[in-house]
Amino acid sequence: MPARTGAEYLRGLRERSAEVWLGNERVHDVTTHPALRRCARSVAHLYDMQHDPALRDEMTYLSPTSGTRVGLSFITPRSLEDLQRRSRMMLHWARYSGGMLGRSPDYLNVSLMAAAAAADFYGQNDPRFADNARNYYTYVRERDLCLTHTLVNPQANRALTATGHPSAEIAARIVKETDEGIIIRGARILATLGPLSDEIMVFPSTVLKAAADTASFAFAFAIPCDTPGLKFLCREGFDYGASHFDHPLGSRFEEMDAIVIFDDVLVPWERVFLKADPFLCNQLFAATNAVVHLMHQVVVKDVAKAEFLLGVACMVVDAIGSGEFPHVHEKIAECIINLELMKACLRAGEADAAVDRWGVMCPYRPPLDVARNVFPKMYPRMVEILQLLSSSGMMMIPPQSAFDSPVGEDIERSLVVANMNARDRVKLFRLAWDVACSAFAGRQTLYERFFFGDPVRMASALYGVYDKEPLMERVRQFLARAEED
Ligand SMILES: Cc1cc2nc3c(=O)[nH]c(=O)nc-3n(C[C@H](O)[C@H](O)[C@H](O)COP(=O)(O)OP(=O)(O)OC[C@H]3O[C@@H](n4cnc5c(N)ncnc54)[C@H](O)[C@@H]3O)c2cc1C
Repeated sequence: MPARTGAEYLRGLRERSAEVWLGNERVHDVTTHPALRRCARSVAHLYDMQHDPALRDEMTYLSPTSGTRVGLSFITPRSLEDLQRRSRMMLHWARYSGGMLGRSPDYLNVSLMAAAAAADFYGQNDPRFADNARNYYTYVRERDLCLTHTLVNPQANRALTATGHPSAEIAARIVKETDEGIIIRGARILATLGPLSDEIMVFPSTVLKAAADTASFAFAFAIPCDTPGLKFLCREGFDYGASHFDHPLGSRFEEMDAIVIFDDVLVPWERVFLKADPFLCNQLFAATNAVVHLMHQVVVKDVAKAEFLLGVACMVVDAIGSGEFPHVHEKIAECIINLELMKACLRAGEADAAVDRWGVMCPYRPPLDVARNVFPKMYPRMVEILQLLSSSGMMMIPPQSAFDSPVGEDIERSLVVANMNARDRVKLFRLAWDVACSAFAGRQTLYERFFFGDPVRMASALYGVYDKEPLMERVRQFLARAEED
């Protein structure tokens, strides 16, 4: 089956019908539920882009197994050109949402590709797992499935987690092995887009101590979202059913986050990639380079998001005629610097890519690592800049319905600005508000701060992997220079 259309994606969600809970309501059809359906439609649009004649060649490639056109984010890059093609494809998707759909399917497609390419890594645990990793990648690619993932054990007691021991009564764990597979019980966080996905990857990220009591928490597998016993508990939804005019982002890109409950879920052996091996689990993302491919997708998204915020900020300045003030230049310049830094990191990551031990053209990690460490600080600052540039303008945003009410003329007269009529001004500032003030905006900021991991531990990871030795050696040589030198 070739790259899917949006209609095929929506049909898949309807047919599979995972157990999704929103408050006390069991959601039976996520494609029609008011809190989820419009984001489902946006994801469907991404799939449709694969069939747009103007984009098709940039969005898809010929499958090495079926010969049909499949999504380009699945490609196993063998050359720099492959990487750059993947990057262009991902940018098309990221620009569609201004980077607000962090979990466009490419995010996990690249990770899955890395898992298959590094299948021998999984095979160290059990030779069957290497085949599982390869087969699963092909399975997903050929069906163009949409994946979510959950990596983290819930916040029960982080003092315990810090020692490498998850909370035994809460975190998802293997409770039994049978001829059919492993049985999982417990909870994980936080499956973004979970209710709108076909399958879930349950992979390790919490660092586990290699000890007897942690083995049952050490696993990697993937299963369909409608597997019996699997439940998605959604947070409160931020799509309130308002028009695109009123909530331009929340009405389109509300990618739901969900706690995942495993109520004695059977994971068939063919879907198990790692089992009871804390040592391999702790290494997985770095050793397979999946983390680098994920960073590649993330930095493409960062570019699109920085472009979008800069664009909104410039429009706000233009609208109210504040472009003469030096401090406004400074703030816009800060956004420009952020954007250009992200573009430079992306480009450097691609330019210095090299074929890794798995035979994959892998982006150069350091500049992408820099980007993933700095963007969680940049994004909240750009949101702050938007607030500082917009000020009360973000509160002078009566809903669309007010224009057709008895006070409509008052609004048309009073909310006009230097370079825009009232209606266009309100439309623009409602967008700025949805970037910087709404519930949707708050979640986006939290997302950027944390989705790729705790920033403190990401910095530690950078400290750990960065090759510092040549620099220290240069300093040693400097200190050893002769007196007259
Ligand atoms: C909007 C959003 C979407 C997300 N989507 C997903 C998703 O789709 N899939 C997924 O798997 N995860 C997802 N996450 C979860 C994300 O991976 C975690 O938020 C992140 O790894 C941090 O873990 P935590 O939230 O449990 O915070 P914690 O680890 O509990 O950290 C909380 C605070 O305690 C400190 N802390 C805790 N432990 C330590 C330690 N050992 N050393 C130093 N400081 C410590 C942290 O620095 C932080 O200040 C998402 C998160 C958000 C906010």
